[in-house]
Amino acid sequence: MKLWAGLLALCLVLTGCSGHAEEKQRRSFFAMDTYMTMTACGPEAEAGLKSAEARIRQIESELSVTDPGSEVYRVNHGSGTDIPVGKDMEETLGTALALAEETGGALDPTLYPVVEAWGFTRERQQVPADETLRETMARTGWERLRLSEGTLHRPEGMEIDLGAVGKGYAGREAGRVLRAHGVTSAILSLGGNIEAVGARPDGTPWRVGIRAPDAEGHAGMLSVRDAAVVTSGSYERYFTDDSGKRWHHILDPASGYPAENGLLSVTVVGPDGLLCDGLSTALFVMGRDKAEAFWRAHGGFEMILIGEGRHITVTEGLAERFTVLPEYTAEKAEVLRR
Ligand code: AMP
Ligand code: MG
Repeated sequence: MKLWAGLLALCLVLTGCSGHAEEKQRRSFFAMDTYMTMTACGPEAEAGLKSAEARIRQIESELSVTDPGSEVYRVNHGSGTDIPVGKDMEETLGTALALAEETGGALDPTLYPVVEAWGFTRERQQVPADETLRETMARTGWERLRLSEGTLHRPEGMEIDLGAVGKGYAGREAGRVLRAHGVTSAILSLGGNIEAVGARPDGTPWRVGIRAPDAEGHAGMLSVRDAAVVTSGSYERYFTDDSGKRWHHILDPASGYPAENGLLSVTVVGPDGLLCDGLSTALFVMGRDKAEAFWRAHGGFEMILIGEGRHITVTEGLAERFTVLPEYTAEKAEVLRR
């Protein structure tokens, strides 16, 4: 009991909901293969959080790649090439395909056969044999999918994976549900991906910790209001082979191997969690130079790049909102300007 009381007190401090205790609600649960915690403030908080969790579970039941009842599973394991798809799939896959095009294929929602060969959606992971990699790579290629008016054209043998965009989409949708309930102050953490609704009840921004990709704890703190903060990092899922080499879960679609370019994590900040999630994965694959060029050319989002040597770059929109923690590195973040 004491421990719980202690934890509750800690939560109150961290989440910063002020006012009456009954107006702050917290909901924690396991979904989409990760631990989620949502905190909302105000009289509509409890009802809003309940609906937000239901929406996340609905998205999970449609987009899960392993649940035999999901829409993604039906697409991947069904016969036929022209398949009717629902709204959530249309929205997430449509965005993933658009980003695939804009990023020169750095994001590829058809990579599932390769992801599976590495074992990243299973309990056991391994470096695939060359032959397996060749065979699975031959069944990928986002250009071969066509999605229009609720119908997906998917050549036989191809399989989709929305793992790179699903959680950002879920965060966006949960935020929408909360706002529709009249909630103006909430902070959602979906396995480290953040969706901030409004600001803290006292009007000051939410404070979000950006994980250190190569150590315990945080590399820096970010102030946000009404924004998604989505991170892709090599530390999130990986295994170590017999020789001690580490292999992580973000694959370069050009090679079928984990992207190795000196970046350790990419955090994307913007108004649309779905776009942020797709971008974080794509920019991680692209590496620092291409990611910076992409930001300069497209804009519409901000980012934090953390590379080897703890070198941190932030785009100019975050310059005043991001603080490097001195225990992580003594160097200031480099500010990327247009
Ligand atoms: P994220 O954590 O959002 O960067 O997404 C990583 C997940 O997306 C992986 O666990 C895979 O399921 C899948 N994935 C890995 N590499 C790619 C890629 N290049 N394009 C699309 N999905 C990918
Ligand atoms: Mg992503």
